[in-house]
Amino acid sequence: MIVILKDHAKQEQIDKLKAFLMQLGLRIDESKGDHSTILGLVGDTTRVDADLIASLDAVEAVRRVQEPYKKANRKFHPEDSVIDCGGVQVGGGLFQIIAGPCSVETEEQIITVAKAVKEAGATLLRGGAFKPRTSPYAFQGLHADGLRLLKLAKQETGLPIVTEIMDAAHLDLFEDVDVIQVGARNMQNFELLKVLGHTDKPILLKRGLANTIQEWLMSAEYIMAGGNDRVILCERGIRTYETATRNTLDLSSVPVLKEKTHLPVLIDPSHATGVAKLVKPMAMAATACGADGLMIEVHNDPKNALCDGAQSLTPEQFADVVRRVKAIREVVQN
Ligand code: PEP
Ligand code: MN
Repeated sequence: MIVILKDHAKQEQIDKLKAFLMQLGLRIDESKGDHSTILGLVGDTTRVDADLIASLDAVEAVRRVQEPYKKANRKFHPEDSVIDCGGVQVGGGLFQIIAGPCSVETEEQIITVAKAVKEAGATLLRGGAFKPRTSPYAFQGLHADGLRLLKLAKQETGLPIVTEIMDAAHLDLFEDVDVIQVGARNMQNFELLKVLGHTDKPILLKRGLANTIQEWLMSAEYIMAGGNDRVILCERGIRTYETATRNTLDLSSVPVLKEKTHLPVLIDPSHATGVAKLVKPMAMAATACGADGLMIEVHNDPKNALCDGAQSLTPEQFADVVRRVKAIREVVQN
């Protein structure tokens, strides 16, 4: 971090600032120019409040030269992280497809969809048991019973299961879950992230509806700081002024994240677009731009789905998407 001092900063103010910074355990490299003085801070600046320092009378500006996230940072971990999710490896150029309904509704529904998506090429099964719905009157999920049905579907198909947690108090129910999802609405629920940081489960961290990539990586850092480095990022679109799609899919986050972090990056074209017919083109685009996999909503009867039917693919449509995605993979890998 670099602190640029004001031209006419008083020596007394500078001395106070230097004492404050040194007391944070930092070394200071001072460079005096004709007009301004620059303090180079050497050491762990992750705990330094840059905005606070910038607000001091003697300070002209503060620049961070290192990102505030360490464990998620590719600089300190150049190789891609590959995360074992119930026997399926996610990351490192391997391509995995998570598919299944928005929510688990009945035994027949989840087993039918699980078998169909496996047959089509999905490698993990998704299904919500705790649903973050905008309306309190909408279907909220089957809760513990939904998790029981997911486990049954896993026994039937062998597909590892991915499902969302909304409250740390429910963690005990997630013992047989292979990947715990943190939904967009909880990306900055820091107390939940801290609890998940103390588990040994892979965490699928979706991007918040209105969060920057840096904020997203800081949320990953919360989980990793607790000792759990098994974090998978999932872009699911962000809020913009556009209304033709449910969200705006920020596909450029894939190459940006690939540079900044070693964590795997997945794309969810279902929540990103909200429209079933847009899922295929965006799944293909996500594959072409280097994502480590996809998360796609599939329902045996989308018209009668209890949640997100408009964006859900039928098993046949999903099989078609997988075929196209595999064709794109061939091209991208060569
Ligand atoms: C989901 O995956 O079912 C979901 C609710 O997604 P998001 O948190 O991205 O809205
Ligand atoms: Mn959904």
